[in-house]
Amino acid sequence: MANSKYEYVRLFEQPDALLPNTWIVVRIDGRGFHKFSKKYDFEKPNDRRAVDLMNAAARGVMQELHDLVLAYGVSDEFSFVFHPSTTLFERRESKLVSTIVSTFTSYYVFSWGKYFEGVDLAPPLPTFDGRAVCYPSVGNLRDYLSWRQVDCHINNLYNTTFWNLVQKGGMNTTDAEKELAGTVSADKNEILFSRFGINYNNELDVWKKGSVLFREVGLSTEPSTAVPVPVTKTAINKDAKLKKKAQVIIMHTDVIKDEFWQRRPWILS
Ligand code: ATP
Ligand code: ATP
Ligand code: MG
Ligand code: MG
Ligand code: MG
Ligand code: MG
Ligand code: MG
Repeated sequence: MANSKYEYVRLFEQPDALLPNTWIVVRIDGRGFHKFSKKYDFEKPNDRRAVDLMNAAARGVMQELHDLVLAYGVSDEFSFVFHPSTTLFERRESKLVSTIVSTFTSYYVFSWGKYFEGVDLAPPLPTFDGRAVCYPSVGNLRDYLSWRQVDCHINNLYNTTFWNLVQKGGMNTTDAEKELAGTVSADKNEILFSRFGINYNNELDVWKKGSVLFREVGLSTEPSTAVPVPVTKTAINKDAKLKKKAQVIIMHTDVIKDEFWQRRPWILS
């Protein structure tokens, strides 16, 4: 770059490197998806095409950004988890968040026609916001993911009951809302069972648990030892190649209990 008298304006830019050695979570969320889902006639409470499209876009992001170890999605949101060792964009927050948001949005729009066959996408177009949060320990990171999954469960139980009251119970939305005000989970389970013959436990896991994406490493599934391995250029290249080749798996399963993590020690190692 040639120097000019205008160069000094760069000094106005603020440094925004995220705390080193922490798990970086970037959570994106669809803007105005309540309206968006109405415009495109998403099936209520849960549209299969819409969730498959979200997951396809998240897979695209995972495939492009190899330092991501995990993604968790529900409704119109997705959380992407960078390993503490990542040095991508010198850990600059604005670069990380904006790249995730735009990569996700690009894939969402690119894949639209595959999932919403024959439905033309026209403005207002889907857009997403994003934020980054650093978590210093695996415990904090797992609590974060548990928080999102509990939220998924609470919302899905509510939405499932609400829409049954409307669609099968013949209530209008205002009355259904009133009916559910102040109810606890047990009450909603009871409404579903006694009025609509639905056992909530039998609902699909994709709605009850959300979606978790991770890499099936296969070749090096051994958990890393406490002794740090010398980091050579060849080792880094090999690791990068493995990550690039690894398949991105999508599961709809519990991430709150230990089992998921114990069976896949490489994800957080
Ligand atoms: P904001 O811009 O503040 O995020 P929003 O309208 O997007 O506002 P959210 O709380 O993010 O509000 O809600 C997401 C909306 O998208 C909900 O109304 C939800 O029902 C809808 N939605 C997302 N995924 C699906 C799906 N697979 N099927 C049906 N509806 C969905
Ligand atoms: P980074 O990811 O760091 O931004 P980059 O490859 O995008 O890397 P830039 O400095 O942003 O690097 O450079 C943008 C590149 O895009 C240049 O190589 C430029 O020649 C090319 N480019 C952008 N617009 C045009 C255009 N209209 N015609 C031809 N080339 C273009
Ligand atoms: Mg440029
Ligand atoms: Mg929101
Ligand atoms: Mg939203
Ligand atoms: Mg949301
Ligand atoms: Mg560029």
